[in-house]
Amino acid sequence: MTIPVHLDTDTFSAEFVSFHGLVDSREHLALVFGNALEQGVPLVRLHSECLTGDVFGSARCDCGPQLRESTKLLSARVGLLLYLRQEGRGIGLYNKIDAYRLQDAGMDTFQANRALNFDDDHRDYRVAAQMLCAFGIREIDLLTNKPAKAAQLTACGITVRRRLPTGVHVTEANRRYLQAKVDRASHIIDITGTRAAQTGVPE
Ligand SMILES: [Zn+2]
Repeated sequence: MTIPVHLDTDTFSAEFVSFHGLVDSREHLALVFGNALEQGVPLVRLHSECLTGDVFGSARCDCGPQLRESTKLLSARVGLLLYLRQEGRGIGLYNKIDAYRLQDAGMDTFQANRALNFDDDHRDYRVAAQMLCAFGIREIDLLTNKPAKAAQLTACGITVRRRLPTGVHVTEANRRYLQAKVDRASHIIDITGTRAAQTGVPE
């Protein structure tokens, strides 16, 4: 089902698209900006749900700023945002809040996950590949600082032609979190600079 929605005081508009038969049966959502479905190779952002950051503006992570940057960019350049219901890197909201308590005791985000008997990352990008295939999309330009995300999509049969970096939204509140993503999850982020490193991203 597709429904048009205005975003952010009518600055942006997108089509919200729902799906049947996704592999994990969760309610993942696609936002289609402009005529992205008519482009040969659309620009795509995979954003994993973060209730605390996306909705309430929690400063513990950079999810909110990344989501707003993505919608602005995708609106301007035309593309798709796949909003994946994989809160807390897939461990769920309550477990993420438990992990926050451990982080406040000195652990980083990945150590806290393991202390709760979770792996570093439980997200499954097969649903994203399914959503793209439902649109008939087999090749994309991917907006991400995480090369592993492109690799997972490739493994699911989606060709990633180019990987484009997102901006860096570092603050004193989220610096430790971002540093852990660089150190432990191979994110390509220049935390000391103002933009993500351009490694591997042809213009
Ligand atoms: Zn977040």
